[in-house]
Amino acid sequence: MTDCLFCRMVAGEIPADVVHETDRTLAFRDINPQAPTHVLVVPKEHHPTVVALAQADPGLLGAVVRAAGEVAVQEGLATEDGVEPGYRVVTNTGPAAGQTVHHLHLHVLGGRDLRWPPG
Ligand code: 5GP
Ligand code: ZN
Repeated sequence: MTDCLFCRMVAGEIPADVVHETDRTLAFRDINPQAPTHVLVVPKEHHPTVVALAQADPGLLGAVVRAAGEVAVQEGLATEDGVEPGYRVVTNTGPAAGQTVHHLHLHVLGGRDLRWPPG
């Protein structure tokens, strides 16, 4: 049994509020949302960071990014052919960025004004 939280959610061992799923990706609501929409998009396969995934399987990274876009449309953050009202996709890498779960995840955030830089 893995001790990776998101692998366990993918395996159905820990409940997840799933909003989008493909054969290779899963998206579920963050347990501690930082915006009205805060969804995490993960590859079903374990990869620790975005760069590790880009090196190991760029096609899978593309599938994760595409899933993030589909979540944004589904959540009303963008039209299929546009970017209005807009949203943010971020991924934290390492302790200085506050990465706490070492299974790559894209945060999809929206539904409020998102300041930049985020601080
Ligand atoms: P990180 O800090 O690694 O970029 O993001 C990890 C995210 O996972 C955080 O936003 C945190 O709220 C979320 N998270 C932690 N534990 C759980 C959980 O058990 N379920 C869900 N849905 N999200 C979680
Ligand atoms: Zn994992």
